[in-house]
Amino acid sequence: MNKAGEHIVIQKRSAPASLTEKQLRQIAEQAEAVAFDIPGDSQVKRCYFFPQAKQAIFDWALQSLQEKAVPEVGGFLLGQFARSSEGKYLLVIMHFIAATEVSFQSANRLRLGPAAMLALDKALDAYPAEQLLGWFHTHPGHTPFFSDIDLATHWAFFKADFHIAMVTDPCLEPFPTVILAKKQNGDMTTEWNHQDWIAWNESEVES
Ligand SMILES: [Zn+2]
Repeated sequence: MNKAGEHIVIQKRSAPASLTEKQLRQIAEQAEAVAFDIPGDSQVKRCYFFPQAKQAIFDWALQSLQEKAVPEVGGFLLGQFARSSEGKYLLVIMHFIAATEVSFQSANRLRLGPAAMLALDKALDAYPAEQLLGWFHTHPGHTPFFSDIDLATHWAFFKADFHIAMVTDPCLEPFPTVILAKKQNGDMTTEWNHQDWIAWNESEVES
């Protein structure tokens, strides 16, 4: 966070308790959530997205293409989590909070800043049963992966083992997307094999 934002204190609230794996799967099933498995030795095994959250992420990435010089855009992922029997995290993303006001954005840089953090704080008040699960941002024309700056942002604001980072390239069809999470050794995954990229624009509801 930059100097101007130092006076902003995100309210401390007690985090909602995590769900059991069974509860989380039931919630995901009832909402007809879309599931994506995370490849590799990630601490997060699977992420479910409520259809409206999945659509909101797509819409937010899509609207960025209306700008002549397509800027990076981003936002926050809210929902609930559980731990599976083998100790890995399962996430259900229920809401996407678009960062409509950011400190800086360009074709290859996004700084969320204090206004975005305040919007996040309001959203956490609005959805008290949910917690921050991670963040989303776009890489217009430079493929989905994690840069060194992305890593620094992640370590600064998303410290929990279950926090994920989604990156989408909206300039490529069909919105190739990766979901990055911590590995077992605590390092952050920074890329996926090309063939594992999620086609965000085409993914169907799984049962
Ligand atoms: Zn990035």
